[in-house]
Amino acid sequence: MAETMGKCPYAARCGGCQYQGMEYQKQLEMKQENIRRLLREAGRPEPIIGMEKPYHYRNKVHAVYRRLRSGEIVAGTYQEGTHRVVAVENCQIEDPEAGKVIQTIRRLLKSFRIKIYNEDTGYGLFRHVLIRTGRKNGQMLVVLVAASPVFPSKNNFVKALKKEHPSITSVVLNVNDRNTSMVLGDRNITLSGKGFIEDELCGLRFRISPSSFYQVNPVQTEILYAKAMELAQLTGRERVIDAYCGIGTIGLIAAKKAGQVIGVELNRDAVRDAVDNCKRNGIRNARFIARDAGEFLTAMAAAGEKADVVFMDPPRSGSSRAFLDPLKILAPERIVYISCGPETLARDLKTLAGSYRAAKIQPVDMFPFTGHTEVVVQLMRRG
Ligand code: SAH
Repeated sequence: MAETMGKCPYAARCGGCQYQGMEYQKQLEMKQENIRRLLREAGRPEPIIGMEKPYHYRNKVHAVYRRLRSGEIVAGTYQEGTHRVVAVENCQIEDPEAGKVIQTIRRLLKSFRIKIYNEDTGYGLFRHVLIRTGRKNGQMLVVLVAASPVFPSKNNFVKALKKEHPSITSVVLNVNDRNTSMVLGDRNITLSGKGFIEDELCGLRFRISPSSFYQVNPVQTEILYAKAMELAQLTGRERVIDAYCGIGTIGLIAAKKAGQVIGVELNRDAVRDAVDNCKRNGIRNARFIARDAGEFLTAMAAAGEKADVVFMDPPRSGSSRAFLDPLKILAPERIVYISCGPETLARDLKTLAGSYRAAKIQPVDMFPFTGHTEVVVQLMRRG
């Protein structure tokens, strides 16, 4: 039984946690029921794997900064679905040390007299902070997002920040000069350290750059990936595709039990991380390609190439016909579909239903207190 914390004081205004105030066991039941309903046609889900301690699990923490009319600077989160900022000083699901860094930055902005960006007028400099922590080695990357690369006294700012938080291993200045709700812009300038963090998962070491995707709940990620490997039933000979591979985590974990792994991913920074991660773990039977996953599969199918097992882990919007149609032509024996969007998963499973049968459906709770659920599905080729 999970310990329980007091009710979150920001819940009513923040809106980030749809299940705040609900007992954890009850949250799991709601998620189980939701998955059962959405995937009814595909099969019966296994019981959801929950967390023992469902608090402070997020390794990626974001804060937006605002200057109030009173002159006070607040740091917090956008109220769900709006651009209003809710000041948050202590979030129950985020890494606590990251929360402290966000508050220190708030004070430093004031003493360094740095202007806060105003979304309505486009004036001002400082916009957001993004923090990533490595669970196993305690590394911490702080990304300062500003509207311009000209950041006054940036070296002293970084020095003051690191002095208060020696756990910070790297600081990056990200330039976002567009009037957009995207947090990060395209340009990263490393101010201190390596410009990325390193973390360990399932016995391998990974580097993660600021704009690369990385699962936000490292405890549950290990459980999720172990499940995915179990469902892939690799024997050491298979040709494996890791589609939507991000920094290569799934493909590299699979590599030691496969003949050959090909990872495909759209984000070039993530592919660069994947190539580096392959090398740093001394893996020789994996390669990574920066390309749209659908285009890549179409090219493979047209060339008459084959794959034995395909892992696919698309974003919440799910996969597409451009991917699923050539996937059916490639006709792998097994597909392991990892999804953070059960609605789009249900849609995609329908598209595959004539050719593949869902043999196992395993929900994993990666996002306690929120309404989101991760699901891994083992699909077996029919006939
Ligand atoms: N498998 C990885 C990443 C999953 S997140 C992990 O477990 O960490 C989904 C990834 O799909 C993101 O890295 C995103 O950049 C990538 N992506 C989104 N659309 C894509 C497309 N059309 N083709 C290839 N990759 C895509």
